[in-house]
Amino acid sequence: MGDHCCPVVANVPVSARYWHMVLEAPPLACAARAGQFFHLKCPAPPGEPAPFFRRPMSVYQARPDRGRVEFLYKVAGHGTRGMAALRPGDSFDILGPLGRGFTLDLAWRRIIVLARGVGLATLAPLAQDAAQLGVGVTAILSARSPEDVLCREVMAEAGARVLAVTDSEGTSDPDKVAALIRAAVARAGAEAIFTCGSNRLLQLSQALARELGLAGEVALEQQMACGLGMCLCCVRAFRGADGEIEHRRVCWEGPVFPLQEALSW
Ligand SMILES: Cc1cc2nc3c(=O)[nH]c(=O)nc-3n(C[C@H](O)[C@H](O)[C@H](O)COP(=O)(O)OP(=O)(O)OC[C@H]3O[C@@H](n4cnc5c(N)ncnc54)[C@H](O)[C@@H]3O)c2cc1C
Repeated sequence: MGDHCCPVVANVPVSARYWHMVLEAPPLACAARAGQFFHLKCPAPPGEPAPFFRRPMSVYQARPDRGRVEFLYKVAGHGTRGMAALRPGDSFDILGPLGRGFTLDLAWRRIIVLARGVGLATLAPLAQDAAQLGVGVTAILSARSPEDVLCREVMAEAGARVLAVTDSEGTSDPDKVAALIRAAVARAGAEAIFTCGSNRLLQLSQALARELGLAGEVALEQQMACGLGMCLCCVRAFRGADGEIEHRRVCWEGPVFPLQEALSW
């Protein structure tokens, strides 16, 4: 882990709200794991001051063969506006890889990944890792509308069975997603479920995991400052294995946590 100035290879919009950035970073491409994140020193957006704090961003792709690290991001505010202003050849200061990533059990035959919006960026490399290890993947991608469904191609290329649900088509309600997951488990089996990016989907995953006897993990998004476990800005409450409430740093003990230990918000 360290602070690196990486050349921008590409930084382009992929839809009205989401952007894709590719950085040249050979050592980081080898080091970064699915579920980990980088802490980004976003430059000043045009006409605005530079953000004071870094911004956390999940590893979307870390490709050792190409020496590249990639981010898939939503332009949400000050920092990500500055990020979107970077052009090929610019240098981007990124700190990481940070945090604890996902865990895959080689005994599993199939996992379910369930996420919404940029939460899918966090789960895409997990689906690729699973595929490489011979673990099947059912990917349920949730979005506002069909145009907003992210990561469809990456998941499909990894060999995942991809099911998209959207608000505009009326298919993303928790009851409908629950029915889809029950049907997927009945059809092909699954031993674990992974989620990110939505409180509603976290609650649904926890309930279904209990009902169907699935293991699982959740990647949490929490505003953070140092990203290194020192400032305690990102502390959240969890239910420990013994049922007691514990406080943990999302940046350091996470951002990936056992599914049933996360408390919904
Ligand atoms: C571990 C981790 C991984 C993440 N991965 C991704 C990713 O792959 N792609 C992506 O688009 N976003 C990701 N996020 C969220 C991303 O960090 C925020 O969208 C970003 O910090 C917003 O910064 P900003 O300056 O553009 O917006 P700000 O002006 O700071 O805020 C704009 C809005 O975003 C909210 N926000 C700010 N920081 C966070 C945060 N850390 N988490 C959630 N909401 C926040 C604010 O409450 C506000 O509503 C991740 C967050 C974490 C903690």
